Amino acid sequence: MVFIMKRTESNRLHETALEHLVGGVNSPVRAFKSVHGNPIYFERASGAIVTDVDGNELVDFVQSWGPLIHGHAHPKILEKVYQKMRDGTSFGAPHLGEIELARHVKRRFDHMDMVRFVSSGTEAVMSAIRLARGYTKREILVKFDGCYHGHVDSLMVKSGSGLATFGIANSPGIPKDTVATTLVAPLDDVGAVEYLFEEHGDEIAAVVIEPLPANNGLLIQSGAFLKRLRSLCDQHGALLIFDEVISGFRFKHGSYGQMCGVTPDISALGKVIGGGLPVGAYGARREIMENLSPLGPVYQAGTLSGNPLAMAAGCKTLELLDGPAYDYLESLGKILDENIEPVLAKHNYPIRLVRLGSLFWFSPGSGDPPKRADQISNDVGIFYADLHHGLLERGYMLAPSAYEIGFLSTAHEEIHITGMALALDELLTEMGAES
Ligand SMILES: *Cc1c(COP(=O)(O)O)cnc(C)c1O
Repeated sequence: MVFIMKRTESNRLHETALEHLVGGVNSPVRAFKSVHGNPIYFERASGAIVTDVDGNELVDFVQSWGPLIHGHAHPKILEKVYQKMRDGTSFGAPHLGEIELARHVKRRFDHMDMVRFVSSGTEAVMSAIRLARGYTKREILVKFDGCYHGHVDSLMVKSGSGLATFGIANSPGIPKDTVATTLVAPLDDVGAVEYLFEEHGDEIAAVVIEPLPANNGLLIQSGAFLKRLRSLCDQHGALLIFDEVISGFRFKHGSYGQMCGVTPDISALGKVIGGGLPVGAYGARREIMENLSPLGPVYQAGTLSGNPLAMAAGCKTLELLDGPAYDYLESLGKILDENIEPVLAKHNYPIRLVRLGSLFWFSPGSGDPPKRADQISNDVGIFYADLHHGLLERGYMLAPSAYEIGFLSTAHEEIHITGMALALDELLTEMGAES
């Protein structure tokens, strides 16, 4: 593998980091394990551009893995945070900012009467599940193969092959008894979920799903599938939890659930809601939320929950997400389609671009995009490492994993996308000549 881009300083820092941090990172996906080379160490970032410690400037399509819908260091978000910071960085007491952000959230997620803020997406889903179990007085969860809900014990489970099964933990350290209450079904498979309800209907507390699964590629589900989940939950007295940590606030016409005409009982949020500061949230109708402490018996708390700086960043981020902002994101998405698809076709390269709004995925294969985890071909990583490396060397940064999606922000411009398409064309030409 040829490295043209200077990586001296990044590599040096990585060597040092390895002595202090596990694998040099604080979240495993950052480790570049499935692509060539070591992680790139960032120095600063602005808008769509990241500057690394070697002085390379890269067009960033990762955007902190989703939160930065307005790009890095947006001046108006920074200004609001600076302003709030002067009044104190953490209160551990109620303040106006929490009410303001709750109002913003309820405007988009109109099934929520009340909201509870936490500090990460993991915490949001974990707490939503406790609430659902407390409310229904049942224990079993149904989740889907290929949906990620954070590193919550009971959801770190994948399915066995074939028919939906009781889950086996993805990670050591998770008690068998914990995952024994988690059932796993394939996405896009109504029959499997019906079967689970037939067998365990009166024990199922909740079905939890990313209505737009975006952590294992972008596996766009049909509205009919989501509607069937809704009716099965209703029929059996289970709650439907939509994990919209990635999809929330990404679409002009409301939540992804709303776009599909399906109302969940509880929604879990994260990423965009904090505009780059740590915020998660969950919310539901009053009758469910009233079960939470201090109104009810289900306990959940957080020292930094509702943090004033994080609330301020979230409010400004959502304020800036007006109609024109969404239209702009969609126009960028169209530019992506129009520029990338012809390049892939020209080289007859076995990738299709899957895109919905400002989320996109270079999906291996051809024909209709996959809807289930097991439809993604196993050799996806092999071609992706070269693609990732080649684009990075040309100044375009995608996530260092074939299963991670790309993010457009309002800070991206046409030139960043047409530039990536040119780089891709050049790269595929070079790879074609080599093979
Ligand atoms: C990122 C993500 C999470 C976890 O959020 P963290 O803030 O990383 O804890 C949960 N669910 C979905 C759908 C996510 O995309």
